Amino acid sequence: MNTAPTARQWEQIRQRVKNVIEGPNTDIDRFITDVAQHGQLSPALLAEYPVLVDTRRARLVEAVVRHALGGVDRADGEGNRACVVYDYPNDQLIGTVLDTGQTFTTDDPRQLADWLFAAGVRHGRVSMPDWREGDIAPFTGDKIALHHRLNQLGRQESGEQHEQMTTHQEYASLSPELTMQLYTDYPLIFPHRPPLAVADGWFDLLDTLCWRLQAETSNGGPQVVVQQVKEKFGGLRFYPKQQNDAQRGMIDMAQALSFRICEVCGDRGRHIGPGWERTRCAAHESDRGEYA
Ligand SMILES: [Zn+2]
Repeated sequence: MNTAPTARQWEQIRQRVKNVIEGPNTDIDRFITDVAQHGQLSPALLAEYPVLVDTRRARLVEAVVRHALGGVDRADGEGNRACVVYDYPNDQLIGTVLDTGQTFTTDDPRQLADWLFAAGVRHGRVSMPDWREGDIAPFTGDKIALHHRLNQLGRQESGEQHEQMTTHQEYASLSPELTMQLYTDYPLIFPHRPPLAVADGWFDLLDTLCWRLQAETSNGGPQVVVQQVKEKFGGLRFYPKQQNDAQRGMIDMAQALSFRICEVCGDRGRHIGPGWERTRCAAHESDRGEYA
């Protein structure tokens, strides 16, 4: 749509935006006009509307409007497009179908994939912000799980393959000795002594991550306090309360590296799935990594 939208097209865009964010037509129209002019919501408008303080919603509004105004050719038969962001305070994923504005919220990336697929979204048509955009970026593990599931649904649809999905999720835990070592070495990161639900193979990764995070604090960064450490969909999850950009980058790097390191022994590993998703070396492919 390179020419000005007709009244009917405008109403369509309005409805899509309203699926993402509540508001009277006059407000919604200003959002659309603003994105049409600047390519994104301008700082002045963001300051004016408290509802847009939620950067996740603002980002989705921008994506829906840009998509509608761009007039992307959807006759290619590849399915609808979607944008997925992470709601950090609530640990939820928010996915919006750009062609309709339909918005789904869940903490389970596979559930989100199921809903998006049902709404016509296909693999390769989902965009997600990366860590540079701050805490609206979904975790690497969530991205992988969502892509896997969409890919799998696509293959089922085309009749190529029929795989059994499992909801089975096993959690390992770090041995008591290594757990105590981390608690003792980084008392400010682990004041709450949360369970460390990963196998011993990731100890060096965690130890190095904590060492660098604390060094960043010594250099003037905020004190990272960890709420939760666990394995999910084969990757490390490290949930901090506070972090600056440098620390966010370190955590993202550690989480990405965990997909290359055997969770059981620390040797080079590979991500295995779907089904029971894990990262293992050849020797430990079937090892649950549970501490007995
Ligand atoms: Zn191994």
